[in-house]
Amino acid sequence: MAEYIQAIRGMNDVLPSDSALWRHVENIIRQTVYSFGYDEIRTPILEKTELFKRNIGEATDIVEKEMYVFDDRNGDSLALRPEGTASAVRLGLEHGLLTQGIQRWWYMGPMYRHERPQKGRYRQFYQLGVEAFGVMSADIDLEIILLTETLKRNLSLQASLVLQINTLGTSVARKAHKEKLVEYLNRYRHELDEDSQRRLHTNPLRILDSKDLQTQKIIHDAPKLGDYLDDASKAHFDEVCAGLDALGIAYQINPALVRGLDYYTHTVFEWVSNELGAQGTVCAGGRYDGLVEQMGGKSVPAIGFALGLERILLLLQLQQHEMSEPADIYVISTIGAPRLAALELARSIRLQFKDWRVITHCGEASFKNQFKKADKSGARWALIIGDEECAEKSVTFKHLRDEHLPQTKVAITELFTFLEKLRSS
Ligand code: ATP
Ligand code: MG
Repeated sequence: MAEYIQAIRGMNDVLPSDSALWRHVENIIRQTVYSFGYDEIRTPILEKTELFKRNIGEATDIVEKEMYVFDDRNGDSLALRPEGTASAVRLGLEHGLLTQGIQRWWYMGPMYRHERPQKGRYRQFYQLGVEAFGVMSADIDLEIILLTETLKRNLSLQASLVLQINTLGTSVARKAHKEKLVEYLNRYRHELDEDSQRRLHTNPLRILDSKDLQTQKIIHDAPKLGDYLDDASKAHFDEVCAGLDALGIAYQINPALVRGLDYYTHTVFEWVSNELGAQGTVCAGGRYDGLVEQMGGKSVPAIGFALGLERILLLLQLQQHEMSEPADIYVISTIGAPRLAALELARSIRLQFKDWRVITHCGEASFKNQFKKADKSGARWALIIGDEECAEKSVTFKHLRDEHLPQTKVAITELFTFLEKLRSS
């Protein structure tokens, strides 16, 4: 026997037993972004490597070591998208949408990063991305955070998630802070973890994100960005905090929250769970007012976030949130003319009762066996078409969830009235 080929490490299949929960989550997400008036965009999974390299930042984890990059047959360097924001801005610029007033967009789909696979961290994973362009004032920060809070509510994740926020201010403030930070960290450089030592020269702000305990101790007394903020940045952040208070959305200010990508400014935030180990962040985002201009457009303020779907599913599974999609009707029949009659009948029922799941038995099997299958399908009712029923144009109707109720023969001409009554009972 030939050896079968397995999937790529870190790229997961969704099995039939899990797909109901996936669809449940996706449906809630679609409904929620719809209710906020956001429009869907879809971008290709492949983009030019340059798009990500230039705009996410050369010294970020993603660009340094996580991108799937390859040469196309004609020698162009392409990358599987590691995130969605750069593509969204590219789409906006390419189609001239970012100068046409406020844009509110969302997208959902797979992203690719070559990371070490572990619980909650995969090489292909799904994100919901939301981006809003064209608003400078803090109301849009509040709308975006409110959207994430509504998602959390609608997904029934209230208890397990905490909102953390911070401000990164403007690039001027960050530059002043960065100089002092490097000066400070240089004094301890031999005690920093290896990654942080390297970042001291490439992306020192990222050191604040280090999970290394010794490094964290050093960071504790490092110069704080908050001390370098200009008045306008402080006022913007105060407005966001006051707005969250007014909306009754609880939050923690986390000065160490810096986000991994270069393009963030002002407000940044994350929803964090303590139930997922090191992979605790399920949703992360912030303002990126400089990105559109950096990518060749006019200056357009923007804010967005990304939500990791696998981590949401892990949380729901921890809450024993199970989903099943039982059938409504299972049609049992013998092969031949009765089977054809069964296919035809199921077709009519599906047309009339569009939300019902109707399964017709296929393949040769005894009635006993077919009843077992019907039971396993979770169906409420069975319709049986044997030779006799077929000849007299009737079906035998049976309750599968209540053995006491008698089975009845119903003429096909009466069946729809009969089923209508069942539905409304
Ligand atoms: P982390 O610190 O966990 O690596 P990140 O800063 O790289 O996160 P973002 O780029 O902000 O993550 O992505 C937003 C969200 O997407 C994360 O909060 C997480 O829920 C999800 N996510 C990111 N990378 C992965 C991955 N490799 N596997 C599964 N989910 C992921
Ligand atoms: Mg990462």
